[in-house]
Amino acid sequence: MPFGGMDPERHVGMESKMTELMDVAANLADIRAAIARSEADYARPAGSVMLVAVSKTKSAEEIAPALEAGQRVFGENRVQEAQGKWPALRERFDGVELHLIGPLQTNKVRDALKLFDVIETLDRESLAAALSSEISKGARAPRLLVQVNTGAEPQKAGILPEEADAFIARCREVHGLTIDGLMCIPPVEEPPSAHFALLGVIARRNGLATLSMGMSADYDAAIQLGATHVRVGSAIFGARPPHRAHG
Ligand SMILES: *Cc1c(COP(=O)(O)O)cnc(C)c1O
Repeated sequence: MPFGGMDPERHVGMESKMTELMDVAANLADIRAAIARSEADYARPAGSVMLVAVSKTKSAEEIAPALEAGQRVFGENRVQEAQGKWPALRERFDGVELHLIGPLQTNKVRDALKLFDVIETLDRESLAAALSSEISKGARAPRLLVQVNTGAEPQKAGILPEEADAFIARCREVHGLTIDGLMCIPPVEEPPSAHFALLGVIARRNGLATLSMGMSADYDAAIQLGATHVRVGSAIFGARPPHRAHG
């Protein structure tokens, strides 16, 4: 008797569900192995590149297999979406570290500080002021990265490269913030390496150790140019629904 007496349709449904679940774990293993190879290729210390698994648009059920496979560092681009899925996942899995990788509105700063360990998108002075104010009122201080708009794209968030030094100085001196590093999203239509190199130059001259750069398509180049964090989404979780525009 086929399928040991199980309803064949039900069996097929379970099998495809299993395949999906195993894919995330397998993809994650592939990415980890590729990162380790890049570290070795470019004489970076083993384990010096942190994988931020970008789980934006993915449901808790889609994210759980990555947690079960041991991944603990995740990136989300919307405060509200992250609020909807991460508190419950954190109850099931210890040691989760969440990175905000999308734009942060000043009226969402308080919520963001309750949820995120790292804010990678500090991109304007009003946000520096709002973060500083919440932290001085007792909110947990996140690690902060300044987003640099390396391609000077008008539609993209981030500090212009020529304004980065002054902005970092004002974050430190005027707002009393500790800045850990820089983040960039290069223009899609350009080779990313010049942008990664520029981010590294700005970080070095400002004494910043953390460089968040490189996504599914270009994390190898980013590791070559000094990335300490790569943000990889679709190569782990599969393609996302068509792009939703955001600031
Ligand atoms: C979506 C996103 C990523 C991940 O992109 P993939 O190409 O899916 O790896 C990385 N960084 C930021 C800021 C993103 O918004």
